[in-house]
Amino acid sequence: MSNLDKLTVRDINAENKKVLLRCDFNVPLDNKRNITDTKRIDEALKTINYLIEKNAKIIICSHLGKPKGEYKEEFSLKPVAKYLSAKIDKDIKLANDVVGDSAKKIVSELKPGEVCMLENLRFEFGETSNDEEFAKNLASLADIYVNDAFGTCHRAHASTVGVTRFLPSACGFLIEKEISVLSKLKDSPEHPFVAILGGAKVSDKIEVINSLLEKVDIVMVGGAMAYTFTNALGYPVGDSICESDKISFAKDMLAKAKERDVKFLFPVDLKVGREYKKDTEFKIVDADKIPEGWMGLDIGPKTIKLFKEAISGAKTVFWNGPMGVFEWDNFIEGTLEIGKAVAESGEMSVVGGGDSAAAMEKLGLAEKMTHVSTGGGASLEFLSGKSLPAIEALQDK
Ligand code: ADP
Ligand code: MG
Repeated sequence: MSNLDKLTVRDINAENKKVLLRCDFNVPLDNKRNITDTKRIDEALKTINYLIEKNAKIIICSHLGKPKGEYKEEFSLKPVAKYLSAKIDKDIKLANDVVGDSAKKIVSELKPGEVCMLENLRFEFGETSNDEEFAKNLASLADIYVNDAFGTCHRAHASTVGVTRFLPSACGFLIEKEISVLSKLKDSPEHPFVAILGGAKVSDKIEVINSLLEKVDIVMVGGAMAYTFTNALGYPVGDSICESDKISFAKDMLAKAKERDVKFLFPVDLKVGREYKKDTEFKIVDADKIPEGWMGLDIGPKTIKLFKEAISGAKTVFWNGPMGVFEWDNFIEGTLEIGKAVAESGEMSVVGGGDSAAAMEKLGLAEKMTHVSTGGGASLEFLSGKSLPAIEALQDK
């Protein structure tokens, strides 16, 4: 099923070996440091359990937030270690450093089939700067390196790229699955292929918009991104988010779509609010008639119908970016209705993007999709045709 040309965890002999497993446990925490979304940990279980079964000595490492090179209690992986420990029903020792005495001691005491964790990789400056010395120290803890942190594969850090210079390396099941699904979208999608784009900003998504236009049959834009496009069409946008410096890019994309016979769909109506506030006054207006002093915060009912019709005929759907401010109940409907349509559509429904994935979880739709990518930036970069340095760095088959 995989078109990945890299070694996977299946190709290595992990028996009795110390395996350094890079996970993406950069999970959201509330102010009491409870994990509010465990998806990233749950998704890593397949590889962890496989390595346990193979009697490896498993050393898990991850980053969490941006502690900027020093130990800070609020960025400790303690809540993660506690959750994971309960999940695999095994005691997990968490070192209080990354490559220091504590880590070395815990690793030296590991028995086959046991799991330990290093502290937050970003407590070390060398992590994000991909420092050779730090990568070497990290590698010296183990015999084999396995990367399953898809969400960080677009970054060349010590624990994703540097370490591969010193250890045999392979990817885990999560990376294998992500690359397999995203490669299919990128290289051989079934048609009709529909892309739904939304979210906050055009400027975050330039490359992905540009490259999707070369692959899809229909593209539709909603979310805050829509106003830069409708403004390019000459519509007033009121107080909606609109990136005036991206209007010429939007015009280029409209021309490119026309040239390639790609159908470009825009909102025909909108739910506009008075202010950027949860309980603001709101009403439905036509997309070309946003009154002054109002801002678009969700797509309207006619747009939902229009988009749903286009989605229902698709064989492949890729969706990035919520249709409105889904965090607020009054502006959740567009994202919910489009989500339901995507879940019911065609053969392959893929959702990418951090907030989009969170929206699918919140709406209970994640399970209904073919795939919800755990990597926000990484999946978009991959779909844009860029190579991911941490994948490139792994050993070829
Ligand atoms: P992703 O992380 O999935 O790539 P983005 O980060 O691009 O998505 O965008 C998500 C954010 O866009 C959400 O927080 C949502 O509230 C916001 N958003 C969507 N539509 C609008 C809108 N019309 N006005 C303001 N913000 C919006
Ligand atoms: Mg986001």
